[in-house]
Amino acid sequence: MLQSQLKDAGFSVESGVADEPTAFIASYGQGKPVIGILGEFDALPGLSQKPLPQREPLVPNAPGHGCGHNLLGSGAALAAVAVREYMETNHVSGTLRYYGTPAEEGGSGKVFMVRAGLFKDVDVVLHWHPGDHNSVNNGGMLAVISAKVTFHGMAAHAAMAPVRGRSALDAVMLMGNGIEFMREHVPSNSRNRLCRIHRTTLRTISPRRNIAHWEYHTGFVVPAADPIGHRISPAIHSDRRFAA
Ligand SMILES: [Zn+2]
Repeated sequence: MLQSQLKDAGFSVESGVADEPTAFIASYGQGKPVIGILGEFDALPGLSQKPLPQREPLVPNAPGHGCGHNLLGSGAALAAVAVREYMETNHVSGTLRYYGTPAEEGGSGKVFMVRAGLFKDVDVVLHWHPGDHNSVNNGGMLAVISAKVTFHGMAAHAAMAPVRGRSALDAVMLMGNGIEFMREHVPSNSRNRLCRIHRTTLRTISPRRNIAHWEYHTGFVVPAADPIGHRISPAIHSDRRFAA
């Protein structure tokens, strides 16, 4: 829908960029400067919601947009169309690009677009987020390093022979505790969390396999430039080895 609307508004659209089926670039004009506007459209699992202040899904368990994200892609597209009209009316030269960026809430969609060199010649990238007031924010955002850790235990009946088992859930909890202790020693603008645990066995059997998803958000723009981020990743992995 975004692609066809932008096409109708005079943009040329390149679909499926960076090998991502829903990533695209809509461009107008040519030459320098190159100005990019980011359009995001991710929904999250289980967030379907009627326009009400209390929790009431439109479709139970269906995906929905969190924190105003239903407005991100369409609002950014409207901004791109307005800028394009301004450029045309006032004979302003330069390139305007709308980046359709999927997998923003997990999946690192933009990372693949950066790796494919799609932002190489861009002079400035603009982005916005819905809120309860209008303001320009010139501050930094958090970058993220994440890891998915799988612990393999040994299945045993929890009542008949627990002594023979080795719980993968225990390992996840030990690792989680280790991460909690690390909080004291990371900069105050960092966020550090164990965000998901998948359990793959029955309640009466000691967990045979558990997967933990860990995320570290850092205030530095490039995670590699963050000395703590650099140290924390190996620290998490030694914590993982200890837990195992
Ligand atoms: Zn948001």
